[in-house]
Amino acid sequence: MRRYTLNWLMVALPVAFALLISLKPCCGKPTGKGCSETVDVAIVGGGIGGAYSAYNLRNKSLKIGVYENSDRLGGRYYTEHLANVPDQNIELGGMRFIKTAHTRLYKLIKDLNLKTEVLLNADSDSYESRVFRRNVSMTSSEYKTGQVPFNLTQEEKDNQADLLRYVFSKLTNDSLKNLTEERLFQLTVPDGRKLYQLSVVEALNLAASSEAKCYLLLQNHFNSAEIAATDMVYNYFGSHGQVYTGSDVLTVSEGMSSVVERAFEQFLNANSKHSLKKNRRLVSIRERKGKYRYKLTFKETVTADGRTQDLHHWRSNNIVCAKRVILAIPMFALSKINWAPLRSRHFTDLLLNTFKVHASKVFMTYKSPWWLEDTKYPTRTLQASGLGSALGANKVTPPLKDYLYDRLALAFGIPRCSIPEPLSAIAGFWIKYPYGGGWVLTRPGYTFDDIISGFRRPSDRHDVFVVGSDYAARDVTGWGEGALMTAESVLEEFFQNPLGHQQ
Ligand SMILES: Cc1cc2nc3c(=O)[nH]c(=O)nc-3n(C[C@H](O)[C@H](O)[C@H](O)COP(=O)(O)OP(=O)(O)OC[C@H]3O[C@@H](n4cnc5c(N)ncnc54)[C@H](O)[C@@H]3O)c2cc1C
Repeated sequence: MRRYTLNWLMVALPVAFALLISLKPCCGKPTGKGCSETVDVAIVGGGIGGAYSAYNLRNKSLKIGVYENSDRLGGRYYTEHLANVPDQNIELGGMRFIKTAHTRLYKLIKDLNLKTEVLLNADSDSYESRVFRRNVSMTSSEYKTGQVPFNLTQEEKDNQADLLRYVFSKLTNDSLKNLTEERLFQLTVPDGRKLYQLSVVEALNLAASSEAKCYLLLQNHFNSAEIAATDMVYNYFGSHGQVYTGSDVLTVSEGMSSVVERAFEQFLNANSKHSLKKNRRLVSIRERKGKYRYKLTFKETVTADGRTQDLHHWRSNNIVCAKRVILAIPMFALSKINWAPLRSRHFTDLLLNTFKVHASKVFMTYKSPWWLEDTKYPTRTLQASGLGSALGANKVTPPLKDYLYDRLALAFGIPRCSIPEPLSAIAGFWIKYPYGGGWVLTRPGYTFDDIISGFRRPSDRHDVFVVGSDYAARDVTGWGEGALMTAESVLEEFFQNPLGHQQ
């Protein structure tokens, strides 16, 4: 019996060994030792930053491989449709842009022959919103100029309509009119510190009453008390401000995802050597000898119901060897990549000085627009109209719906039972890997140039570049345009690919 088992083992071992040899990665013609694929440029990330990079490099006689973690292109541009309103784009992520300010994106949309439409007219007064502060429901103009549940000082009340400017002008002794970037980083506060060294809350503590501080922080709800004061000041008073003034807010008729999809389509059509692989998650970068200097290990993933997970299989590792690498992934995902320069002191400091903003969207559809039945409801609260909720990652659970209904009833000052049941619902949550949040904001201590140049090349010794809106600065942080801006900066400087962008 014992001999019999041993014989079997002797046969089984060579067979297993032969199987192992025959099962080694066999995709393409490996030209580098230990590589399942070799490319001139590996672009990691199938969002707008990756798409713009691939699109602009498509005709450069380079062999480019694109790798995306999920089964979907678009990243935080994510257009969905509900069965009962198939013609309504539901933008779970980015939904809009401003033609005069987001000029790179607008040009790309036009180059791709996509159509745009107005989402909000420049005349924003016609879109009065409601705000709900300290249990009081008000219109946004009432919040700006009327009676508010905040105990402002007389001086602050006198300047309520433009309180942010008033407070920061007082603090910096500058009118903040036509504020250039150069002047912005020269602004000082009475104790001699530069404004960019202070967070918004530190600045407000110096120049506003505690009530005015709460009032202003709640007014600027997309920002945060932790961001650099200069970010907020520049957003509101920067000399670029005129590009936003009087400009319509546009969207893409075919949906925002289509910008990414079409850019990748044209990239693939430009050169048969280019490739795009979905369900590949970059886990590590190693240096190797030879001209394909970077060895990128990807895990194969699987996406079901909008959730993407690693495929737990011993063959799920793919090795791509590349001469150059563009990482077009969110900062949260970047921080999980195993590559030594991302752990350098300088880079870790940069990462630590940022934080992610939680953002999510919920869409519910109704038989009739109940929110328009009384003029006190904001006209733009809900625009989509569907059966049951989307499933999987985009599900609107009953507790979430109940929570939202409680809030809506309070904000509108109506009984909860007067809000009808939705016909359908869908949600976009951006908290989980690879996003970690909707977008990234920066804490004080950096100039815009520090941020852009600090992030785009983690190590001067390596041809590995980082692009994406999470690494943008100025007024495009958190906007798709920021991804284009950082990609352009990398392509122009390191790929000799002048895009000749004119603001
Ligand atoms: C709720 C919300 C509302 C917004 N509203 C607007 C708006 O109205 N207008 C606007 O311009 N912007 C808006 N934004 C911001 C805008 O969507 C983003 O700035 C932009 O889409 C980011 O593009 P990106 O290419 O930098 O990153 P992403 O779009 O996040 O793309 C990164 C891609 O990389 C992939 N990836 C991540 N890790 C890995 C890995 N390890 N390996 C392989 N692939 C990986 C991801 O799956 C993803 O597809 C909004 C964002 C949110 C969340």
